[in-house]
Amino acid sequence: MAALTVAGVNVTHPEREVFGPGGPTKGEVVAYYESVAAWMLPELARRPLSLVRCPGGLGSACFFQKHHADTLGRHVKPVVLEEKGGDEAQYIYVEDVAGVIELVQMNTLEFHPWGSHVDDPDKPDRLIFDLDPAKGVPWKDIVAAAREIRERLGDIGLTSFVRTSGGKGLHVVAPFRTGPSWDAVKAFCEGIADAMVADAPKRYIAQASKAKREGLIFIDWLRNTRGATSVTGWSLRAREGAPVAMPVRWEEIARLKTGAAFDMNKAVRRGRSLEADPWEGMGTLKQSLP
Ligand code: ATP
Ligand code: MN
Repeated sequence: MAALTVAGVNVTHPEREVFGPGGPTKGEVVAYYESVAAWMLPELARRPLSLVRCPGGLGSACFFQKHHADTLGRHVKPVVLEEKGGDEAQYIYVEDVAGVIELVQMNTLEFHPWGSHVDDPDKPDRLIFDLDPAKGVPWKDIVAAAREIRERLGDIGLTSFVRTSGGKGLHVVAPFRTGPSWDAVKAFCEGIADAMVADAPKRYIAQASKAKREGLIFIDWLRNTRGATSVTGWSLRAREGAPVAMPVRWEEIARLKTGAAFDMNKAVRRGRSLEADPWEGMGTLKQSLP
């Protein structure tokens, strides 16, 4: 099949079955991202990004990439950031649909932004709890955990939002006015995770240890550090079945059955039929971390 042009970007090999035989093709992935870009960009735009690229399709050949290269495309922008070791490197960001499509042309399947913007990378503007259930934990318990975080944040005046991860769990996200340091945000989130574990040690764990997780939900507060990422809303996951990380309204989560409840086709339909952003307020709420 000939190359096609989407959002001004030349897309090669649109027939390639990037999710394996019978799964969505590269052309369909491009069409997907074009169709949901308006929902996706408010969260994604102007944040430093890690990508999951899969030049050989799912499986073997996928890798995380956080550094910029000119070959990624004209609308894929570089931003110079300090690395952990103190050196500087060029990180990636996009701010429009052309940048997104250029990255998909380069076989990006997943988009993982930081918790801060390129304009002020040392000032986080949101926090995130990533709920990672051990095998066998029922969905209703994951829902209850997310609701409990929402309530605890609500008690201190913070409105939060929820999405499916496209995998096993849910992510709870709260925006706030920039000001607090990464360390302060991390400590704040650790405090909430620790309090939940103290109150319900038979349900929750706040340590990443897989061995100790059995039967529990890991409340991952460690995403709240400079350079840590989490998958963005509407991003596909490079996993069997092309699941999507989907922003939802709080009322929706009880009706879902798993964190992979939305796949690419469902997400397209949802993108077309949604009247309001399930995360409405994310970008405009003026709330502060205590
Ligand atoms: P799930 O519901 O399956 O846990 P998830 O997206 O929350 O889905 P996690 O394994 O919990 O997946 O990872 C949380 C986040 O950590 C990811 O979304 C990603 O942004 C980041 N991450 C995970 N693995 C890597 C890696 N190898 N390199 C860079 N970042 C990573
Ligand atoms: Mn997770």
